[in-house]
This record gives sequence, structure tokens and C-alpha cells, in this order.
Amino acid sequence: MGTKTIKQYTLPSASLGNTRSLKVIHYGNQIAKGKAYIQAGLHADEAPGFIVIHHLIDLFDQADAENKIDGRIVLVPVANPIGVSQWRDEQLQGRFNFFDSINFNRRHPDLTAQIADQVKNRLGSTPQDNVALIRGTAKNILASMAPPDEAAALKHQLLLLSVDADIVLDLHCDYQALMHVYLGTPLWPDAADLSAQLGAEVTLLAEDSGVTPYDEACGRIWWQLAQKFPDHPIPPACLAATVELRGMADVSHAQAQQDAQNIFWFLQRRGFIKGDAPEVPPLPNEARPLRGVEHLKAPAPGVVVFLKAPGARVNKGEVIAEIVNPLADGPENRIIPVKSAVSGIVFSINTDRYARPGRILAKIAGRVPIKEKGQDLLSP
Ligand SMILES: [Zn+2]
Repeated sequence: MGTKTIKQYTLPSASLGNTRSLKVIHYGNQIAKGKAYIQAGLHADEAPGFIVIHHLIDLFDQADAENKIDGRIVLVPVANPIGVSQWRDEQLQGRFNFFDSINFNRRHPDLTAQIADQVKNRLGSTPQDNVALIRGTAKNILASMAPPDEAAALKHQLLLLSVDADIVLDLHCDYQALMHVYLGTPLWPDAADLSAQLGAEVTLLAEDSGVTPYDEACGRIWWQLAQKFPDHPIPPACLAATVELRGMADVSHAQAQQDAQNIFWFLQRRGFIKGDAPEVPPLPNEARPLRGVEHLKAPAPGVVVFLKAPGARVNKGEVIAEIVNPLADGPENRIIPVKSAVSGIVFSINTDRYARPGRILAKIAGRVPIKEKGQDLLSP
């Protein structure tokens, strides 16, 4: 008999006559040791993740029918029912909450301080016991919280579903981009098999990106507690990653099927599905610091013409794009070259070809941390 069950969580109503809900698919024996959690569409206008989940459901259904699921696997196919309803002027705008303009993948609950307070006299000398204690405490803290509004309730529910997971994959995409992965620094190189299996040409590492995206709300607890309590063994027990499935328009069955298969093999190798996955392919590139990413910004208004595409390797000082202002006097003034301040890999460019001063045109992954970056390492 199959193990698949479906649960529905209703979010608190934000307006009269309107309620939204979250569909959650569970596979596997619910008391199994390992738990993997995968969600798509926290940024609700990022389509590729939904199609990867569609193909993952086929793969897991088949594995389930063959009695091969060996852990717990939780799928949230549409993680942001609020964002997916935000249509304006013929466009789905699922990145920022219309209600307060907060990015749906920022400011997720940071439980570290509360957990630390509750476990400080109870930690022991066995990693497994500490992991169980911390997970139980995190769940109790979440259970005692009363989220004040619909978006907070959504973030709360998503964390409740994943805070005890060993693997968390949050599926996103960028504008026009290479496959890339964001991970916590302490998870590397243990998580190199994820980047390698996905064929991610860029992996970006940070201990704290400064804005608590969802993956960090799940993963960062572990290394922050390990730093606070150096006398007790606390492993980085949750491999939480943000997986950027290329660009917004990179939606095809062939590619999504392959991405789903890669995630399936990654989980199989990690013991969640019986059977043997093929050998891990070689890692395309060693991980780089998130602090080493240059957000190449437009210095002036105009129309952007890119001279480099995602995947280009560039040197410091190379021209990545030109901003053309047809109103300027003289041919030499009509073009403003925009140069990279770092040597690295261009992994994302904006799809919009209009620039205003300060707008991010491209992202370039360098090897060297950029000191002047400040606390917030992610784009708005
Ligand atoms: Zn996103």
C-alpha cells in the first residue's frame, strides 16, 4: 500500500470571505528517521519550481508504488498562496507582499536566541541527542507563537513543516540565469553532491546573508547554536538550500524532468529512496562566497544592451553592459559602459532592459569577499 497522504492547512483570513490554503504532500513512513522537505513558489512568480515539483510527484508516486520510499518526504507544490494571487496589469507579481511590500523570502522567523535560552542547561555530549533536543524545542517554540497576520502565518506554517528536516530545498529562479545554489558555509563541502547532481555552475556560501531567507531560517539555527555552545557537539543537522532553477522563462518539460530526476537521485543517494543512484557527476565549480558576488548596478538611466550573457567568465574592468541614452549629445555620450569590479562568472542578468540608477543589471560571482558589501548580501 502506498504511503502518500495529503494535508491542507488553512491560513487565517486576511479579508472578508477570503481564505487561502496550503496543500502539503507527505510520502513515507511518518516515524522514519530522515526527513526531506521541498517547496516551490515562495516567490510565487517563479514558474520553473512548480514544473519541477510536478515531475517530482510522478517520480515519488512511482517510488511509493514500488515501496521504495525509505524516509519521510514532504512536498509543498505551491508554497505561497498569497503571492500566487497577486495579479496586476496582466502580470503575476509574487515576490513582494502587496500588503506591506516585504519580500516573501525575507524575514523568516529566527528561532536561535529562543532555542539557546531553552536548551542551554540541557545539552549533552551526544550529537544525536542534541539534535533531537533542539528540534523538539524549535517545534515547541513555533507551537507557542501566534503569527499576527496571513503572511506571518504562512511563514510560520512553512517553518513548522521543515524545522525538523534533514534536507530542505527551496526552489526558486532568477531573471535570466545559470542554475545556481545558495547554501550555508558550514554545509560545504558536505552538500557538494547537491550542486554537482544539479549541474549548478555557481554555488554561493554565507553563514548569514543578513535578511533571513527561508533556507537560512531552517539551516542557520545549527551553526549559530554550535558557536554559542562550543562545549557540546551540535552538527549542521539541516542541509537547507535555495536552488535557483535558471531564469524565469526557463520552463520546459525536458529540463524540469531532468532537474526532478537529479533531485530524486540526490535524495536516493542520501538514503530517502531505496535503490542505487548513478555516480555523482563532477562538480562544475568550487563554491564561492556570497559576499564575493558583485551586484552590478546601473549608474544612469537608459536602455541596457548586454555584452555578456550568463555563463561568461569576465575579468575585473571588463564591460558587461552598455546603457544607451538616445537623448545625450554626441555619439560618445550616448553610451555608458558598465564594467565589472570583480573577476568572476556572470550568473544572472536582468530581463528588463530599462535601467534606472542603482538598479541591479547583473550578478557576478567572484572568489574574493567584497568588504564594502554591508550586512544585506541578497538582492531586494
Ligand atoms: Zn526567488
